Amino acid sequence: MQYFISNQCTIIENNDSYTFFNWENGQEVHILKNLVHLVSDEQISFEQNFEEKNIEYLLINHFISETYSKDVISERLLKLIDSQKENTKITLMPSGYKCNFRCKYCYESHDAKKEYEEKELNYFVNYIKSLKGNVIIDFFGGEPLINFKWVKNLIINLKEAQHLNTIRYSMSTNGYLLNKERIAFLVNAGVRTYQITVDGLEDIHNELRPLTNGKGSWSKIIENLKLFKGLTEYFKVIIRINFNSDSLNKDKLLKLLDILSFARGDIRFKFIFREIGDYSGINSSLLKFKINEENYVQSRNNEFLKNFEFINVLIDNGFFSEDIDVLTRPAGLVCYASFPQNFVVNDQGEILRCTVAVDQNYNKFGKINFSDNSSKPEIDNKKFSDWEKNLRWEEKCYKCKMLYQCLGMNCPVKNIANNKSTCPPVVNYTDEVLKLVLKQKMLIKDILSKRVKQGV
Ligand code: SF4
Ligand code: SF4
Repeated sequence: MQYFISNQCTIIENNDSYTFFNWENGQEVHILKNLVHLVSDEQISFEQNFEEKNIEYLLINHFISETYSKDVISERLLKLIDSQKENTKITLMPSGYKCNFRCKYCYESHDAKKEYEEKELNYFVNYIKSLKGNVIIDFFGGEPLINFKWVKNLIINLKEAQHLNTIRYSMSTNGYLLNKERIAFLVNAGVRTYQITVDGLEDIHNELRPLTNGKGSWSKIIENLKLFKGLTEYFKVIIRINFNSDSLNKDKLLKLLDILSFARGDIRFKFIFREIGDYSGINSSLLKFKINEENYVQSRNNEFLKNFEFINVLIDNGFFSEDIDVLTRPAGLVCYASFPQNFVVNDQGEILRCTVAVDQNYNKFGKINFSDNSSKPEIDNKKFSDWEKNLRWEEKCYKCKMLYQCLGMNCPVKNIANNKSTCPPVVNYTDEVLKLVLKQKMLIKDILSKRVKQGV
């Protein structure tokens, strides 16, 4: 019998076997060549001695199918979207846009002085307790730790919300205001995911990310990152390195990794690289214009190639890439702003969906009246549903390796600007990226097997 090979499979030909890698679920199988007839790029049949149970395995795990049906694929995609809807993600800005840093490339204005206060606390405690399912609360800013007291109070008050399946917390912080006590409190209380930026070596970082008084912030951040290392709990610290052609190259990265050697082989530390001034392809000045897709794609491709080079260095030296993880995670490339149950609340109580286009009117969907605890957020439903209209997979997507990661929903802002689903650059490099995915998998396997041998 002939079977259809999933469009999301990459097949690598080895000497005596084929490796089938399924992007849909990150699974990998090796099949001896003498058991396989590759009938075409799209179809496959097997020798008689290829066991039935192996065919079953390939079918169940969507490597192959008996028929090719877009309806079946769409159904699976809709299920994936539905599963994401069980999570409500609320991005809170405890300190509003206030920040203790003045990063050279920041797209936020720090003029606003407002922080969340008691009425905001009462409102959110009440509101979050009224939700069902899983809730993810992300502390964002500005710098959220400027208002650590508020963060702490919210977490303490939400401990009673036992009816929720889970409450998970994450935080984007510059890391400067962390200390041993704060880290212990936060990690114990369930703030398990952090994004902390280190823009390269000390001089470069200090130039790019000075404190408001102009002094450097690098040493303190490195010191605080090391504090995580001593914890026995699970956490994830994503170390973000923003770079441009002057700030980072292979040698500089190797020196930095040497300094960050405590993160080597520790799966709780992951790295991402982002080109300065091109956050997700959009910065505030670009947003004033209609985004030119060609320029956008070119710039993202360049960023991606550099990223690719740095990730190679990273994994070769025993460190982990978050981007590589994301590429094998269902809906991993979907922006949080794509799901209706995810939203951001700024210092004015305005409800946003994108955390980059913070000043744009099209990104403002309603308001919260903090003074009335029991009031529901006022939502502009028309605007909300207009945003949704731009979130879709298209005909081209069925053939795409990244379909289950992207769903045509990688960046709603770009989809709106281009009036179609805009692809993330990774889609042009799946073969190269696959090598990195397999390399990172191998690294994890090696580390785990060493641990098993050492009985850790
Ligand atoms: S919609 Fe999402 S991916 Fe696009 S700019 Fe905003 S936050 Fe970034
Ligand atoms: S938008 Fe592009 S990357 Fe995303 S699923 Fe469609 S074809 Fe693939």
